[in-house]
Amino acid sequence: MPVVEVKNLVKHYGSIEAVKGITFNINRGEIFGLIGPNGAGKTTALRILSTLLTITSGNVQIMNHDIEKKPNEIRKIISYLPEDAGAYKNLTGRKYLEFIANFFGEEKVEKMVSKGIEIADLGDRITDKVDTYSKGMKRRLLVGRALMTDPQLAILDEPTSGLDVNNAQEIRNIIKKTAKSGTTVLLSSHNMLEVEYLCGSIALIDDGLIVEEGKPMDLMKKYNASNIEEVFTKVVKK
Ligand code: ATP
Repeated sequence: MPVVEVKNLVKHYGSIEAVKGITFNINRGEIFGLIGPNGAGKTTALRILSTLLTITSGNVQIMNHDIEKKPNEIRKIISYLPEDAGAYKNLTGRKYLEFIANFFGEEKVEKMVSKGIEIADLGDRITDKVDTYSKGMKRRLLVGRALMTDPQLAILDEPTSGLDVNNAQEIRNIIKKTAKSGTTVLLSSHNMLEVEYLCGSIALIDDGLIVEEGKPMDLMKKYNASNIEEVFTKVVKK
């Protein structure tokens, strides 16, 4: 049984057709990447799967829960990291993680916070206020926040956006490790080299439509391309 089943998903914002009928499945423990250019519809699709936006038509099931009928059930098993997420500036990193963990029940706080701290890997700086953090440090704290809850499905919008090479690589390794421990991951990225490294399956999305889908290696073979960027150029030019 797939963890995520998306069928003919359509989303309009007034007269703007942001998502025009996309279909994909994600299996347990898989890292699935939605990749495509600005405005392709990635964030819209992720926000729908995170239950933050309603659908115009189509069907989404997460762990067999229909997103329109059981959004609260879905909220309990997912975690969403928005592209432009922020943390409370006046809290320390640790206090921020504690604040979030408290929503999941007092008995879970200690375990969650220590996991969040381990993922964020900020050393002593975890006890400093968030507004003293660099962009990369904030992003790592937020990745820690998103993954410390052991979600069934982690939805990560551009998880490494704006990070330097080392920080980005560390976050990619954390995502890989998280998936190995059973969390299913859906992420979006513009960075096609990143998804080639990270994702078991990818869907190339352009102008609200999935234009190609498969394992990165299979797509590179199919298009006789040496990387996914080249695949994308060939697919979109077709
Ligand atoms: P990016 O890579 O730039 O983040 P994206 O692939 O995530 O882009 P979306 O943010 O999903 O793309 O946007 C898809 C389309 O929907 C775009 O044309 C965008 O202008 C439009 N759109 C997104 N959000 C809204 C909104 N709240 N109201 C109206 N139009 C919107």
